[in-house]
Amino acid sequence: GVRIEAAVKSFGRGQRAVDSLDLDIRPGELLTVLGPSGSGKSTVLSLLAGLAEVDSGRIWFGDQDVTALPPEARKIGVVFQSAVLYPHLSLRESISFAPKLAGVPRDEINARIAEVAAFLQISHLLDRRPHEVSGGERQRAAIAKALVSRPTLLLMDEPFSALDAQLRRALRSQVVRLHREFGATTVFVTHDQEEALGMGDRVAVMRGGRLEQVAPPLELYRNPVNTWVANFVSLQP
Ligand code: ATP
Ligand code: MG
Repeated sequence: GVRIEAAVKSFGRGQRAVDSLDLDIRPGELLTVLGPSGSGKSTVLSLLAGLAEVDSGRIWFGDQDVTALPPEARKIGVVFQSAVLYPHLSLRESISFAPKLAGVPRDEINARIAEVAAFLQISHLLDRRPHEVSGGERQRAAIAKALVSRPTLLLMDEPFSALDAQLRRALRSQVVRLHREFGATTVFVTHDQEEALGMGDRVAVMRGGRLEQVAPPLELYRNPVNTWVANFVSLQP
């Protein structure tokens, strides 16, 4: 699994964005990270991705200490709120960019793209450029791009927050099915309770840079560790 150990991260002279945080992510699980705006969710994701460096603490992928490794050495896939696709390339070219660079044979890349694109229902869009498809289709292409390198860890930061509620619901269940099918360990950040509790095998609840509780959705409802968690998970958006 992936382990964050006593991680501290502050920006400038500000308050700690992540404060003495310990988190175990189990192999193959879909962990959602839930918390109010500013609670440190994206910072945790950046630390896992290697896009930000801890002030202190360590990060482990299995028994490998990746604390000082740059993103490209971590075997991760990342999907952000707005899709990072190359504007002048077709979706297919964007999706194959990283594995091509890594030396994966063309046939293998094509096979992987065919599989994941069929699953995400974007096969018919692969020759278009990002501005020629809808927002939801772009996000699905971004997910395909992240998956096609076969990451050990898939990191998603509010990937659907720019989309309307109905599409968000559809993509949510697609990610859950995708996770079952392809089985990459996944960390999915959201401030949407319904999303976090509906999707996660376990939910990590953050507040002020700290983890309040990590538990399966039902247990969060039944045995919240404190009244703050109880209130937070029962709030309807
Ligand atoms: P949101 O739900 O709004 O996305 P979040 O839980 O993802 O919030 P973070 O983005 O992790 O929160 O931010 C945690 C804290 O760290 C906030 O107080 C934020 O202002 C601060 N912070 C995050 N990134 C930076 C940065 N690059 N420079 C300065 N402060 C930052
Ligand atoms: Mg965020």
